[in-house]
Amino acid sequence: MVCAAVCAGPRGRAQAYEAKPKLVVILVIDQFRGDYLDRFRDSFTSANGFNLFLKKGAYFNGCYYDYANTKTAPGHATIGTGAYTDGHGIGSNEWWDLARNTDRVISSVEDERYRIVGTFDDLPVGPPGTIPPAAPRIGASPLNLRATTLGDEVRLATGGKAKLFGVSLKDRASILPSGQTANAAYWIDQATGRFVTSTYYMAQLPEWVTAFNKGPRIAQAVKEAGLEGTTQFYDMVGRTPAANSYELDFARALIENEKLGQGSVTDVLTVSLSANDILGHQMGPDSDEEKQMVLALDGDIDGFFTWLDRKIGLSNVMVALTADHGVAPIPSEAAKLGVASARLDLEDFSASIEAALNKRFSPGAKKLYLLPKQELPYIELDPRAFGKMTEKEAEQAVVDAIPAAVRALGSPVLPPNNNLTPEAERKYSDARIDASPAAAFVRSRVDLAEGKIPATEFGKLIAHSYTANGDWYVMVVPTAYQMEYLTGIQTTHFSPWSYDRHVPLGFFGAAFVPGYYRQQVAPVDIAATFASLLGVNAPSASVGHVLTFALRDSVPAK
Ligand SMILES: [Zn+2]
Repeated sequence: MVCAAVCAGPRGRAQAYEAKPKLVVILVIDQFRGDYLDRFRDSFTSANGFNLFLKKGAYFNGCYYDYANTKTAPGHATIGTGAYTDGHGIGSNEWWDLARNTDRVISSVEDERYRIVGTFDDLPVGPPGTIPPAAPRIGASPLNLRATTLGDEVRLATGGKAKLFGVSLKDRASILPSGQTANAAYWIDQATGRFVTSTYYMAQLPEWVTAFNKGPRIAQAVKEAGLEGTTQFYDMVGRTPAANSYELDFARALIENEKLGQGSVTDVLTVSLSANDILGHQMGPDSDEEKQMVLALDGDIDGFFTWLDRKIGLSNVMVALTADHGVAPIPSEAAKLGVASARLDLEDFSASIEAALNKRFSPGAKKLYLLPKQELPYIELDPRAFGKMTEKEAEQAVVDAIPAAVRALGSPVLPPNNNLTPEAERKYSDARIDASPAAAFVRSRVDLAEGKIPATEFGKLIAHSYTANGDWYVMVVPTAYQMEYLTGIQTTHFSPWSYDRHVPLGFFGAAFVPGYYRQQVAPVDIAATFASLLGVNAPSASVGHVLTFALRDSVPAK
């Protein structure tokens, strides 16, 4: 009778889950808030665009990151590893690491042991207007990523037979979700739009990448964007729908040339589409430009998956769709409706803290105790300035100085007709209720490391944002709808508030029961669910849950 149980297995499996997928695609849209697909869903007409997830797949409209540092690098690391910053180590896009560089912040993925491959060295001088050849630049790698990804686990489980690739316009968004064992991560040279990689992965670009870079595709993207002659591909073309088409065409070329989904084991591809973020910072989530970008993207995604269906068959593919973070409304627009929304001048804030520390420790001097170029929600200290003080003492001194520094940012004084001067508008919005800058939470790195965090839902978000990467810091979380003033952009994302944490989560594949799900889930559930379906270990620091209520009865495929 053992046979009855054993023999029922494979048939049940075959019905529920035809075969293991040949290809897993994790599709990330950079800065794509969880309400967009609901907002625009009536406008989606294509079969394999967003409707692949909304109508044919399992779609979750309540997906929230459970941490407080909702930025691009940590978001992509979270998607890949199924862990938060306290597990994967990536806290920001950039931070100070004085042991590695005392002149400037380092990026989350830069790695001086390697060099960029493909920028200039293997190509003739580009079309007029492109930057002339220069010395090879500092390379990149997942050196700060302290956890494996789903792709890494599939590679481990197959003895390296599975192929693993990452693609994005941004280095961090290509390297971090794919992982340590990726065959390659590709991103673009910002000036020219050429796809590049790092010697961490290879010494030379494969011929097909060089051919793609030399071919007509870059010029086509520039033309589609109406930006002929631009020398800023990333900043200019990168904020138009043409950039999404361009990236997805590169992903097609990769699948074709690397023969993804055509081997005997499951391959893994992560694609992060950057254009939405570059536009969103400038125009805000409620702009018509944003809507047009989403509708154009629907067509591009439809084109990609329709092509993939012809290429390897969608029945052989398992896909997740999500985003690395949401975004806040433009403060002045939220304020017009009465939301207590404000912009904070981080330079003024830092200057007040410096003044307080000088008064306390070095009267009459103008010593700099903080490092320049701060990135909320972390304020970084310069340990060299504090002499013999311990980290705990130094960070506590900064914590002590923060309430007065917040007060010094001042309350908005509203003129009777609410016509703010440009200066006032720059700092504060014209909310009907008091929108004085305020800190919702302040804690030293030492206290975070020791777990001195409130035992609340909010405290859980904070605990997940602890990182051991970088030097001394104090975590500072402004109240909701407040953000730092940043030159050249209108809004941003970085906080534990819902609008920054809310992202879409959609799945497509034979293992999923199609439907519209309202349960609260998180992006960390992607890696856990896929690992379970593929029958491999969850990534090393995974904290996600398997979304069993959206799965057919199945056992992992052999
Ligand atoms: Zn991002």
